Amino acid sequence: MARIAIISDIHGNLQALDAVLDDIARLGVHEIICLGDVIGYGPQPEHCIERLAGRCMVSVRGNHEDALFDAKVADGFNAVARTAIEWTRKRLTPPHMQSLAHMRLVFDRSPYLICVHDTPVPPSTTGYVGDPLTAGLAFRGVDARVCLVGHTHVPMAFHTESERCEDRLGPCDVEATILHAGEPFSLRSVGRHILNPGSVGQPRDGDPRASYGLLDLKEGTFELRRLTYDVSEAQRQMRRAGLPDLLAHRLAIGA
Ligand code: ZN
Repeated sequence: MARIAIISDIHGNLQALDAVLDDIARLGVHEIICLGDVIGYGPQPEHCIERLAGRCMVSVRGNHEDALFDAKVADGFNAVARTAIEWTRKRLTPPHMQSLAHMRLVFDRSPYLICVHDTPVPPSTTGYVGDPLTAGLAFRGVDARVCLVGHTHVPMAFHTESERCEDRLGPCDVEATILHAGEPFSLRSVGRHILNPGSVGQPRDGDPRASYGLLDLKEGTFELRRLTYDVSEAQRQMRRAGLPDLLAHRLAIGA
């Protein structure tokens, strides 16, 4: 299997998405997996949906897509996220909504690969896999060498030598690695991994550059890519749309 581009948490940020798609094309990578949250927060959700239409071999559904269709999920959001999802719902046309409604919850190609938005342990709408403790719990749902997740907007790799879902893992059984561009992560020959490519459209690791990953299962590597993009234009679009100012502000600081 050739290299696959792993994108997640685009959040209606067209400028960031275009920078990432240009980079993927430049590298000659033809397969893209999207881990959800194409919309929410950002001012150009319809363009992001259109850019990705027919381009991703897989798109799994994020909690922001869930919130479009399920008021109970939206009710659990903080005020800013809820305002943005209500704005997004008004903005999208029925064909846009329909394309999101068809996103699947899980893509399962065990024993090689599983893709979910947040956590592989159902029921999954709010689970964050962000540290060895939560990763240890999440490994109970990973019946594959690699599980791809998004949702935290922070690029990370988790590894356990345990090969069995039934194993009860504590934080000491999980090795956590913060991922950086230019330092490809090598998959271990034994055990299971949970890999997070960070966020295209709203990074939260203190680095405002758009983030995505390149997975090469044959070579056993996961490489993080970071791209500068026109943050000012994304902020201008947000303010023009009347979205909460906090959302524009956080783009500049990657928080
Ligand atoms: Zn998200």
